[in-house]
Amino acid sequence: MLPTSYSILLTCVPRIETPGDTSRPLPVAESSSIGTLKVHELIQPELLKKHLAQSIFSSHIHYQASIDSTNALARTLAGQGAPEGTLVVTEEQTAGRGRRGRAWVSPAGANLLFSVLLRPPMEGERVFVLTMVLALAGLKAVKRVTGVKALIKWPNDLYVGTKKLAGVLTEFAMREKQVDWAVLGMGMNAGWHPDMPEGGGAPATSLLEETGQRVSRNELLLEILTGFETLYREVVRGNMEPLYEEWNRNCLVLGKAVVIESDRERIEGKALRIDDWGALIIEDAKGVQRRILTGDVSLRVAPPNKILTQL
Ligand code: ATP
Repeated sequence: MLPTSYSILLTCVPRIETPGDTSRPLPVAESSSIGTLKVHELIQPELLKKHLAQSIFSSHIHYQASIDSTNALARTLAGQGAPEGTLVVTEEQTAGRGRRGRAWVSPAGANLLFSVLLRPPMEGERVFVLTMVLALAGLKAVKRVTGVKALIKWPNDLYVGTKKLAGVLTEFAMREKQVDWAVLGMGMNAGWHPDMPEGGGAPATSLLEETGQRVSRNELLLEILTGFETLYREVVRGNMEPLYEEWNRNCLVLGKAVVIESDRERIEGKALRIDDWGALIIEDAKGVQRRILTGDVSLRVAPPNKILTQL
């Protein structure tokens, strides 16, 4: 049973030492609204609740030091009737997942690992708009907190240059044609990144790697959630135009030759734009435009000198 009144679910844990932790407080960005935070502190749900007081994310914060997967717990909570705005956040996932069953790896206490539960009044087919919106909120927060410029690699990642900084995993259930619930998980490399991602994935980076400084995960999470909520309200209002323009301005793949692979097919083309459903529009070698709307495809950018037929 979920508590009917608000409670933060806290698991008491010993202090987790982050990799390279020197126990020395490092500076946070000057613009921080929580400037007294020590940047290598644990996630602080009480502090999140305080700073999210007016937000949909303030009232059901589930923090545990270790969880199999934040998306898995959020899905379970969704099935038990948990409300929109439920937030699951952890220091460590023991079975962190990416898409198509792939692993998301992150040592305890180093990175940002969270999921939010939403119950958006929208058709199931539009749900990947939310992936784009979380990616957009992520890159804006990263810029504000660290100055690092990340871009969206459609459909679900944030990159800095050619390196992966963060990934979004969107899972949802439908009732009739409408979304019943959507769970959006984000893993963002704050203080650690894999040297060589498993499965031949793209090279990775972290905010520590990019800036030489530890970033406050609490501050980053607050920025992401408040930014996300602002954008999400626009989605619910149906005011897609500004979002659509913004994610196209911040997209890594547009204008490039790309290869898109799913379990069923392989499509080559030039990426033209992302439409207001979060679908990628590409033009194939015959000049025919195709619309790709799914969260389960992989996209590879071809080297700049390749022409489409050589992909
Ligand atoms: P694709 O490149 O096919 O689009 P993806 O990048 O979207 O895949 P996801 O399914 O979102 O991949 O994430 C899982 C993949 O991310 C893993 O296969 C691994 O290569 C890589 N990975 C795992 N952990 C991390 C991490 N902390 N930072 C960066 N990359 C990671």
